[in-house]
Amino acid sequence: MVDYVIPPPAIVAVPVAGGGAFPVRRVFCVGRNYAEHAREMGSDPDREPPFFFMKPADALLLDGADMPYPPQSKQLHHEMEMVVAIGKGGAAIAEADALSHVWGYAAGLDMTRRDLQNAAKKEGKPWDMGKGFDFSAPIGLMVPAAKCGHPAKGLIELKVNGKVRQTSDLSKMIWSVPEMIAYLSGLVTLAPGDLIYSGTPENVAAVERGDLLEGVVEGVGTVRTRIV
Ligand code: MN
Repeated sequence: MVDYVIPPPAIVAVPVAGGGAFPVRRVFCVGRNYAEHAREMGSDPDREPPFFFMKPADALLLDGADMPYPPQSKQLHHEMEMVVAIGKGGAAIAEADALSHVWGYAAGLDMTRRDLQNAAKKEGKPWDMGKGFDFSAPIGLMVPAAKCGHPAKGLIELKVNGKVRQTSDLSKMIWSVPEMIAYLSGLVTLAPGDLIYSGTPENVAAVERGDLLEGVVEGVGTVRTRIV
């Protein structure tokens, strides 16, 4: 037995619809995976392909919990996304095999300190403090692919205080789920417990304290949080 000199960190686990919990290892995120969102961020989706960044696993916000407005920002943005959960690891996974590595799916929010991200972009600095801060990754219940299949089309939508803010279709993703798994596993070896936030459609915008965010991914589930 290892004699830990401080208490080891707890395992972050996302509750599964129907029981149990999915233990999380790493959280990868795809940037600019919907053309209209790439355009609203000032990029040309035909010339700049999607890419990856990360959040720490303990940035996940579970069970519809409130999200504290983060420090050092005056521009907290919502990004509604489908989350892919890896159940079987691997390196250089072929597109044709990719879906067999997926355990399930969830609805999630990639909350962003847009002001810090924009400042980092301008200076060519990393995005981490704009993206990977505490409570920055609300996530709904995990649904096994055995139940929901592998959604490649269907509504992805976010309401703020009951009004639709973002609405699109999963079929508009530039990298499909098999493609993002193939790309990512060519960069790093994927492991069971890894999550991939698959990118947001257009109409990202700011939220304020008191706002209620309710997102849905058709055929998968919902995600909910209130900014406090
Ligand atoms: Mn995002």
